[in-house]
Amino acid sequence: MDDHEANPLLQPWDTPHGLPPFSRLQAAHFQPALEAAMREHRRELAAIAADPAPPDFDNTVAAFDRAGALLGRVAAVFYNLTASATSPELQAVQRALAAPLAAHHSAVYMDAALFARVAALHARRDSLGLAPEALRLLERLHLDFVRAGASLSPAAQQRYAEVMQSLAQLTTRFAQNVLHDESTWHLALQGEADLAGLPEALRAALRQAGAERGLPGPALTLARSLVVPFLTASTRRDLREQVWRALVGRGEHAGEHDNREVARDILRLRNEQARLHGHACYADFALVDTMAGNRAAVQGLLDEVWPRARAGGARARAARAAQMQAAPARAAGPPGAPIEPWDWRFWAERVRRERYAIDDAEVKPYFELGRVAAAAFDCAGRLFGLRFEPRADIPVYHPDVRAYEVRDADGTLRGIFLQDNYARPNKRSGAWMSALRWQSRNARGPDGRVGAQLPVILNNNNFARGAPGEPTLLSLDDARTLFHEFGHGLHGLLSDVRYERLSGTQVLRDFVELPSQIFEHWIAEPEVLQRHARHWRTGEPIPAGLVQRLQRAQRFNQGYETVRYTASAIVDLAVHALPEAEPPADLCAFEAGLLQAQGLPHGVGLNHRLVHFQHLFAGSGYAAGYYVYLWAEVLDADGFGAFREAGSAFDPAVAARLRRHVYASGNSVEPGAAYQAFRGRAPTVAPLLAKRGLVPEPLTP
Ligand SMILES: [Zn+2]
Repeated sequence: MDDHEANPLLQPWDTPHGLPPFSRLQAAHFQPALEAAMREHRRELAAIAADPAPPDFDNTVAAFDRAGALLGRVAAVFYNLTASATSPELQAVQRALAAPLAAHHSAVYMDAALFARVAALHARRDSLGLAPEALRLLERLHLDFVRAGASLSPAAQQRYAEVMQSLAQLTTRFAQNVLHDESTWHLALQGEADLAGLPEALRAALRQAGAERGLPGPALTLARSLVVPFLTASTRRDLREQVWRALVGRGEHAGEHDNREVARDILRLRNEQARLHGHACYADFALVDTMAGNRAAVQGLLDEVWPRARAGGARARAARAAQMQAAPARAAGPPGAPIEPWDWRFWAERVRRERYAIDDAEVKPYFELGRVAAAAFDCAGRLFGLRFEPRADIPVYHPDVRAYEVRDADGTLRGIFLQDNYARPNKRSGAWMSALRWQSRNARGPDGRVGAQLPVILNNNNFARGAPGEPTLLSLDDARTLFHEFGHGLHGLLSDVRYERLSGTQVLRDFVELPSQIFEHWIAEPEVLQRHARHWRTGEPIPAGLVQRLQRAQRFNQGYETVRYTASAIVDLAVHALPEAEPPADLCAFEAGLLQAQGLPHGVGLNHRLVHFQHLFAGSGYAAGYYVYLWAEVLDADGFGAFREAGSAFDPAVAARLRRHVYASGNSVEPGAAYQAFRGRAPTVAPLLAKRGLVPEPLTP
């Protein structure tokens, strides 16, 4: 099918704000549309490369930035649907097109004539009289070409393109295998005995999950918003163990959805990719293009945090062991049984209740989903003057999705925001931000003129929906996740740059979590809690005493969380730092051996095991890059201090600097310089350690 007339993806979108006409889209439209869009992109690039005029910034660099608009538009719809509302038909297209899309990308950046023009300009970049943002784009573009293999020999280029295509196919398969294991597993809960210890809100969510799967009773799925509260509350140690094993076993089942060999194949190809670039290992290649810059800088941060986290984990373990001693065997296991990973959250909750008198069932009624979303909008209003106006006429891809026009204080439209908050079986797990369109002032409009393009930004969460007629109540962690993704969303919406390549979240990857993580601070601010954390039934604000207890409890369990996270980051860096061409024969054994050598406390577990570590293997964006959350946390903890020093979480001068230098500047400024411009100095690690409750502690080497 190659009929443009009949394919809504290839026609102009005459919907409100030019959003995709989702209701008219079918899976069968994507392959022909993506193929046509790739052809159009190639034609546009061929015209740039064949331009008889000598290369200058506008006819080469700015023109390159404008090219591929149709492909960008169609691919964005495609990737968003395959993540949030997929189907077997879309998955088939995804598998069929992974290699051609990767080949297209390789062909673009290995085009010798195009690269010659970019390289010629890059060589005399300092004498071109470019504005700082234009110079940054030229440098960025040149680096994009070099890192995609443009300066390799022709033979190496051919092999490089093959490697990239294979990687694209393998990462697609990896993600689909994880989704398969997540969407097929459930545990039907039979009767009161299986629900022992569970609060009513969780029971309702489990009944809802069962109903969504066509089961007569409640069911536990692997949705994080069900698993975590279940592990926290269930007194059925045997069921906790079952769900834990299902969770950590994702991707590790013999058969057609086994990720063990897929991950090894990816590692082998990444090592080859790095070698083609002259690096000894993939981590070295990946880290060149980051704020950290090299492996030593990342290792330095991990080394600073790891022993403190381990010590925190050991203290927490002792507290849980004391709790277990006094508990009945059904919840604790036989006398003297060690704390297993499926015990950890359960006993942590007991300790937390005892020490801080906090019970999730007491907290959640104050965090109804709609109110939490409104709190995020209100904070964006108080900090940056933004207004979020719901619009029912903007097309969306699923009835769960809410659409908003986003306006500045003076009424100027800044962009469109879509929020998709609920877990569904055809949606990948986790929470993320994406864009249907990036902000730019270098976009070619339908009339052919170059001008402004407003961003269309999405947030996806995976909250378990309340039962029919019941509200969706969030934990404080869930509310924090919503704020996190909303921070990414603001990074896309507040972007104010000329060139699309430098827009929004398209920054260096160890800077990208700063705007999201710093925004998490506001949900925990007493002022915000008092205003927005209101009981869903009575409208009463959260009691001040509970807020104080929440504040005190905030650092609780940070040892556990930090150990789990840091251990995953250590595994990521280690597995990508292996210089051998052939990856370890048994990745699971490699992982276990490494963690034993690092002294991971028994019973803690990892955030992600390699066999389902989507950050690493569902794409390359976070490969050798799981550390970025910690790196950005150094920045967000240090950065939020600016508000503390100013005496208000909404200090207008600090907020204005934060908007200008962090949320608006995209990649138009080197990230270290952007941070300094906001904070007035370089960041320090101490606020991170304090925030996580990891100081003052003696270091145990
Ligand atoms: Zn994030």
